[in-house]
Amino acid sequence: MTKLSTQLVQGSNGTDDAETGAVVTPLYFSTAFRHPGLGKSTGYDYSRLSEPTRSILEKQLAAIEHGTDAVAVSSGMAAIDLVFSALTRTGDHFISSDDLYGGSFRYFDNRADKYNIPYDTWNGINVDDLLLLLKPNTKLIWIESPSNPTMKVIDIEGVATAVHAVRPDILIAVDNTFLTPVYQNPLDLGADLVVHSATKYLGGHNDILGGAVIAKDPQLGNTLREQLTTTGQVMDPFDAWLLIRSLKTLKVRMEAHTANARFLAEQLPTLAGIDKVLYAGVGGMISFYLADDYDVDTFLQSLQVCSFAESLGGVESLVTVPYVQTHHDMPVQQRLDLGITPQLLRLSVGLEDKDDLWGDLQQAVAAAKED
Ligand SMILES: *Cc1c(COP(=O)(O)O)cnc(C)c1O
Repeated sequence: MTKLSTQLVQGSNGTDDAETGAVVTPLYFSTAFRHPGLGKSTGYDYSRLSEPTRSILEKQLAAIEHGTDAVAVSSGMAAIDLVFSALTRTGDHFISSDDLYGGSFRYFDNRADKYNIPYDTWNGINVDDLLLLLKPNTKLIWIESPSNPTMKVIDIEGVATAVHAVRPDILIAVDNTFLTPVYQNPLDLGADLVVHSATKYLGGHNDILGGAVIAKDPQLGNTLREQLTTTGQVMDPFDAWLLIRSLKTLKVRMEAHTANARFLAEQLPTLAGIDKVLYAGVGGMISFYLADDYDVDTFLQSLQVCSFAESLGGVESLVTVPYVQTHHDMPVQQRLDLGITPQLLRLSVGLEDKDDLWGDLQQAVAAAKED
């Protein structure tokens, strides 16, 4: 199977060990697995280590991200934590792109404060500037592209090539939550690790909290697995089953999200009350600035199709105010420097009819005009 659509739809079919012929993956709730004898195993012993439903999902995740191994964990933050707890130690240093999911920054600050693993930020533009930040103890570079919420696109291949040319030991980790393997395969671009909040597009229906880490190299995969056995933040079987189901429609969903988002990114700049629209050209995430004489709260309360809620990547369109929600823990000056102002809104474009979405945004913006 070479093409993504086929892998997404068929990758979990035929994986039922019991050979019942079931087309849909079975859901195993068992935490314990009988041993055939002393020192013998079916391959499954105890579900914190592995269980069949999660294993099928993990094979799918590794395949679609072009990795050798993948682990499915309990949330996106658990995925980020697994990378750091497995691969860094006190005294290491890392570098992160500067515009990221707010929770990632909260985590990085926590690592720096509690475990003495300091980090520097890079603006994601000039790779030479990034090289200047490298230190002898730099262990990892963290990239999110397009960035959240200002949609900056980072040249992952340029970063990986330049960094690995001088420091092959440095791991490059990419949070691929926004584009998914439908539009971006970071491992093909030279990254070593891919991280997902599966809560977002991979899950796609605002009903699964989950995460994943995909490794390029089997050794790295083993290190992650050993750490996961130690720390235990695995994905539960039902979420794994739901995620297998969600992946079957990932490509059609992403293409539909993109079509709706492209339409809105073209229309929004024409609207009085919208100062600026940020869109990476692909994917379903758009940010825009409401003009200063428009009231954000009135806009949010006037929405009828879109919901004012804090997530992204689902079939339902959601609007977030990063300044007070996802990025609230970031120092005010840093937020403002990045362009995360109180007037910045982030729209996760869902799969509703595009004209209904456009109509909803138009009427909510009009209602928000202050007199
Ligand atoms: C939501 C999100 C996370 C955190 O994932 P959770 O599933 O909420 O723990 C990490 N990175 C990005 C880009 C996200 O959008």
